[in-house]
Amino acid sequence: MSHIEHSKNLSKIAIIGRPNVGKSSLFNRILKRRKAIVEAVSGVTRDRLSACVKFFNQEFILIDTGGIVPSSNEKMESLVYKQSRDAMDESDAIVFVCDIRTGITSSDAHIADILKKNREKTFLVVNKADDVASENDAFVFFSLGLSAPYIVSVLNNRGLDLLMKDVASFVHEFNKNRQGLRHDDNIAHTNIAVVGMPNVGKSSFINTILDKQRLIVDDLPGTTRDSVDISIKRGERIITLVDTAGMRHKKKFRDVIEVFSLSRTRESIKRSDVVFVMIDAGKGLSRDDMAVLTYVIKEGKACLLLANKIDLLKEFDFQEYKKDLIYKYRPIEWIPIIFTSCKEKKNIIKAMDLACELHQKSKLTVSTPLLNKFLVKAQRESPHVLHKRARPKILYATQISAAPHKFILFCTNPSLIKKEYLRFIERQMRKEFGLEGISLNFQLRSRNAKDRDND
Ligand code: GDP
Ligand code: GDP
Repeated sequence: MSHIEHSKNLSKIAIIGRPNVGKSSLFNRILKRRKAIVEAVSGVTRDRLSACVKFFNQEFILIDTGGIVPSSNEKMESLVYKQSRDAMDESDAIVFVCDIRTGITSSDAHIADILKKNREKTFLVVNKADDVASENDAFVFFSLGLSAPYIVSVLNNRGLDLLMKDVASFVHEFNKNRQGLRHDDNIAHTNIAVVGMPNVGKSSFINTILDKQRLIVDDLPGTTRDSVDISIKRGERIITLVDTAGMRHKKKFRDVIEVFSLSRTRESIKRSDVVFVMIDAGKGLSRDDMAVLTYVIKEGKACLLLANKIDLLKEFDFQEYKKDLIYKYRPIEWIPIIFTSCKEKKNIIKAMDLACELHQKSKLTVSTPLLNKFLVKAQRESPHVLHKRARPKILYATQISAAPHKFILFCTNPSLIKKEYLRFIERQMRKEFGLEGISLNFQLRSRNAKDRDND
């Protein structure tokens, strides 16, 4: 074992693929973009290069298998397969590189079969998409049965940021799950951000929870100096309320005027799995609330709207209230609303439990066959309206990530798919797969090169 692999308990990410697809080029490109310690590692079979890199705040070890050369009596192909299997066993995730120019070769298909067993830890990279036009050829790579491809060009430095961002977030999740809080592997963990305008009741909400629940970690320093996370244990789960600075002991500082800060709110949202957007039920949604909600949706976070202080409202019709809110701001139609009263301690625990449920759901992926079966049925029962004499269609879809839930929809002509129709598909999908409270993001792609400009 090398110095790098031994010295720290870092996640290992191996780059694999058949010769000439651009593995070493990718490795070198990534290294050039970040300071890294590189050293040759004597692996089980051959020498390989290993580097410790840091991306988006996540440190991990990147392993290049590009330089592997078979011994004289060994076939290159069988060596590549063996190396893929070894990498699968020894690494925490795999970056599997293919070449868009050659399409899928039999070696690619064979390697994909090996990787399929661990689909969730495989990043399929289709390299040498040197310009936008060539991206459309990536469509065939869906048939490998892995996750949706990252379409990149190492040469022209295209698409690499998205890949590295997702690798870094995989590493983050991986480490979080591996360590858990207090290094307990079996304990699930949910981070909740409670955000909203001053005086809606955020501090009261947190204090109510702390009164009711056992506090296990208090005032744990967070990433910024003045952000404070508080963790509680609920059943088998640890719930962390992120960035509660100033909330808990606020009563002592009543004269301090709190100023709403969108950038701070954004930071909390980024660090959370589930966001509670709290409003004063009597006042409804403000412009700032809408800005926060828009951001939550953009970030793809699971979300709950807490309409607080319902004890102050007389003759309150929940259904009507909900309708009015959605009428005022349509994008929140998928966000569950919980009516709370911190004063009467109403629905506080219910909100916490629903948050954990949403967090669980936000990690689910819909399998490609199920998703496509659903699309066929939905479009058969309610087809898109005709455009001239043709009917725009979603041909094929795949989920490319969970939390946030991102889907690629391949369409006959993306520019012709109406927004209302997408909203309909979105609503149906939520019903079909139980995704209420989960933000869904659709990326429309064209299958045909000639339609590309309409994307
Ligand atoms: P490896 O055997 O998989 O490690 O592949 P290499 O990194 O050695 O690359 C094989 C060849 O592909 C080299 O000639 C590279 O310059 C070339 N190559 C790598 N990435 C790209 C790319 O994005 N576009 C093009 N056009 N060529 C590339
Ligand atoms: P924050 O600025 O969002 O943290 O709001 P606070 O928790 O400091 O609450 C602002 C004011 O609203 C305080 O006077 C609270 O006592 C009051 N408050 C909070 N929740 C409720 C509630 O559910 N009902 C009523 N009637 N008042 C509440």
